[in-house]
Formats: sequence, C-alpha cells, structure tokens
Amino acid sequence: MTKKRINPLDNDIQEIFLSHEDIVTICAKLGKRISKDYEGKTPLLIGLLRGCVPFLAELIKHLTIHCEYDFLEVESYFGGTVSTHAVTIKRDLTSDIVGRHLIIVDDIIDTGLTLKTICKMLEDKGAASIEIATLLNKPAGRNVIGADPKYIGTEIPNAFVVGFGLDYQQKYRNLPYIGILKPHMYQKDK
Ligand code: 5GP
Repeated sequence: MTKKRINPLDNDIQEIFLSHEDIVTICAKLGKRISKDYEGKTPLLIGLLRGCVPFLAELIKHLTIHCEYDFLEVESYFGGTVSTHAVTIKRDLTSDIVGRHLIIVDDIIDTGLTLKTICKMLEDKGAASIEIATLLNKPAGRNVIGADPKYIGTEIPNAFVVGFGLDYQQKYRNLPYIGILKPHMYQKDK
C-alpha cells in the first residue's frame, strides 16, 4: 500500500498496515453493526485510556443510536504466571454502570489478560451486559478465555504496530494511520 508522505513522523514507519481511509471504513462497518445490535438501547461505551481515544472518536461518528461514553485507565502488572496478573485502576469511571449495557472500546487485544480482568470487575459492579469492541485483534497472542471481542475491526499478525492511538514509549499515538516502526527506532533506545 502506498501513501503520500507529508508528515516527518512517516519517516520512522517501515510499512503502513492500515491507512486512515481503511480505518474509517472499518469504523463505519462496526458502527453499523453496533447500531443494529443495540437498537432501542443506549449503550455506555467504555474507552480504555489512552490508546482508545482516536478509535472511540471515529467509531461514535458511525453510531446511529443514542450512546454515552466514559473512560477507564488501568495499569497491568504481570507476574511470573497468568495467575499472578493484576490490574490497578488509575482513573475510574464517573458513570453508574448498574443495569447498563457496556461496550468496552480498546485499540488492540493481545493476550486479553487486561480485558478479562476489567470485564470481571465491571460484571461484579452490576452491568447488564458487557461486550468488547477492538480496532485490532492479535489472536496469536491470546492465552485467556473470557476476553473474546464481539466487534473486531481487523485481525493483525504478531507484529508491533503504532499509530491511531497505539504508542511506542508514548509516541506515535497521533499518526492518522497504523504502521510498523522501522527496527532502528527500537535499536536507538538500547
Ligand atoms: P493484553 O491484551 O496483552 O492484556 O494488552 C493489550 C495492550 O498491550 C494494548 O492495549 C497495548 O497497550 C499493548 N499492545 C499489544 N500489542 C501492541 C502493539 O502491537 N502495539 C502497541 N503499540 N501496543 C500493543
């Protein structure tokens, strides 16, 4: 896929995985499906900070039903095994979720560990239903049951991508597309 290079940050990118146009098309399809599935309901979209921001902003433009949104920021700690994984809330929701239909909005799901813990937490707080919408899904990385997204933008092979909310050391989130970083960008930090 070729793209006119006008942004200096483009020079750090080896390959574009999804162009901005691709992302908008994906969000339009997801928005249509979600609008149909939640007809007559007002789902509460829960964006996982910080990566969700561009995806959530694009997705809601394609919803033709009433919806609300709120944000959650968590920190994951990985121990030696899956069972030692823990999630701490850094920024909590401000909405009451009792009896609400929740759609968790995430940029990418890899192992699914963070999401599984979040789903359990929200379930315990009394949500009526919980589904997951993710722009990217890395099925190769999945090692837990109970974090399967209903709404998937597209599947991605096991590569590290940046852009459209996804970062490398907090950078590149502002790229309007999703791409693979040139290897020397990582090596520079070693
Ligand atoms: P997991 O599903 O493993 O619990 O965590 C998913 C999180 O890992 C994502 O929200 C993101 O922060 C990070 N992550 C996984 N794969 C990638 C990737 O390819 N690029 C970037 N920038 N972050 C990733």
